[in-house]
Amino acid sequence: MSAMQTIHVDGVWRGAASGASREVLDPADAKTLALVAEGGAEDTDAAIAAARRAFDSGPWPQTPVAERSALLRRVADLLQRDREDIALTESRDTGKTLEEGRVDVDDVTNAFRYFADLVVNESGGRVVDAGSPEVHSVVVHEPVGVCALITPWNYPLLQASWKVAPALAAGNTLVIKPSEVTPLSTVHLVKLLVEAGLPDGVANLVTGAGDPVGARMSDHPGVDLVSFTGGLASGTKVMQAAAPTVKKVALELGGKNPNVVFADACETEEGFDTAVDQALNAAFIHSGQVCSAGARLIIEESVRDRFIAELAKRAEKIRLGRGTEDGVECGPLVSAQQLAKTESYVRSAREEGAVVRCGGTRPEPSEIRPATGFFYMPTVLDYCHGDMRVVREETFGPILTVETFHTEDDAVALANDTEYGLAGAVWTSDAGRARRVAGRLRHGTVWINDFHPYLPQAEWGGFGKSGIGRELGPSGLAEYRESKHVYQNLNPRPVRWFAG
Ligand code: NAD
Repeated sequence: MSAMQTIHVDGVWRGAASGASREVLDPADAKTLALVAEGGAEDTDAAIAAARRAFDSGPWPQTPVAERSALLRRVADLLQRDREDIALTESRDTGKTLEEGRVDVDDVTNAFRYFADLVVNESGGRVVDAGSPEVHSVVVHEPVGVCALITPWNYPLLQASWKVAPALAAGNTLVIKPSEVTPLSTVHLVKLLVEAGLPDGVANLVTGAGDPVGARMSDHPGVDLVSFTGGLASGTKVMQAAAPTVKKVALELGGKNPNVVFADACETEEGFDTAVDQALNAAFIHSGQVCSAGARLIIEESVRDRFIAELAKRAEKIRLGRGTEDGVECGPLVSAQQLAKTESYVRSAREEGAVVRCGGTRPEPSEIRPATGFFYMPTVLDYCHGDMRVVREETFGPILTVETFHTEDDAVALANDTEYGLAGAVWTSDAGRARRVAGRLRHGTVWINDFHPYLPQAEWGGFGKSGIGRELGPSGLAEYRESKHVYQNLNPRPVRWFAG
């Protein structure tokens, strides 16, 4: 297998300057899926220099907003044209099901269209009343400059697009680095940007490791903004690396998201069935490798036994397998490392007193095809509490922990007892309680009687250690803009502050 040319600098596709390449594995069978260029510091410097030139002297920042918007729309159309291809790539690369891959392409298409509209609607400056007819004062938006975009492996296309679409809409140039584990859909996306007519040097791509590529993007003086999505440990390093050059930093980090279920949500059979079904979806979709996974079930004591029994029964029936196969509901974990991490969390939870209601192990080799894949059974851990590592830390695996409460205050306290604050849900049939609890949750997204939906027009991001800044919505565009106040004196005269 020859290495793909996955580095894109100044309009040219090429391999790494060093000639190095990296194997990308299919997590369903641990076999090589592709060989990609393994970029290094030299490739990163070249990509940043190209983006710098394209920003400082290229046409893109001065391109009329309507034309930038039209380009984003063309990208959206191309994404739809290649929907099946991209979904397949994403499924093979990440292990997620083909249907999830399709949903990702559709969501990303919507995000491109949303930012295409938003940038046109928000392109005008804001005239400010300066208190004098002799002054014209206006606040205008300008692009930040060269943006370094670093993305994770769980939603490669989606996370890339939430950054690329607003960055380009605002007139920036960029260098993007996908996760070294799942780079393939980002390569496809950059090809579509080129096909849509983006000028050379505006969008550059370097495939490679967090260090050196991501680290260089974070500390490089030629970069004006770094937008990072990934884990807390890497995000902290990005922020430290960015500090000496005082570049803008946006961080979308992890989560440890509570799913709070009140007994009144389960009073009817339909309510019970819905709450169980959604708790399952919250925790186990994409094998729990979701930043907003509802990994903590916080349930009212009076319904716990019935709820957990039903949940465990359904979790055991989840059909694991290769994401591209018909009927498969959950794919593998993305890597051997992620599998080992999951096993270690379940081990520590057992040692700390958790009771395994289902899962807690890899599937028997005879029960899973292909047997060499990184599969782990959906796992429900009962009798958990806030001192346990499995409750405090983001496992990013198919693990659901159960904690219980008696009062509304207890439920809120438990849900907020996390250093993260990305997302959370409350299930209740009491409208007043729903609004009260939603108001008290310290999380960037709160769902009432639902879990997981998001909208391109609504901000996404976290409180606490879940990050800094927001993606999507008007704030998602504002991240990529500088405001400039232009104050024009229409009748200049001496001020005579100094007598002489
Ligand atoms: P990760 O932190 O290991 O890697 C993320 C990216 O950072 C990769 O491209 C990696 O190569 C790069 N990187 C690693 N070290 C770096 C460094 N020192 N400097 C610069 N870049 C570096 O995360 P991951 O394992 O790929 O992804 C999972 C994490 O992403 C989870 O914590 C998850 O919650 C988070 N995530 C958050 C959101 C959100 O919207 N908040 C969305 C998706 C994923």
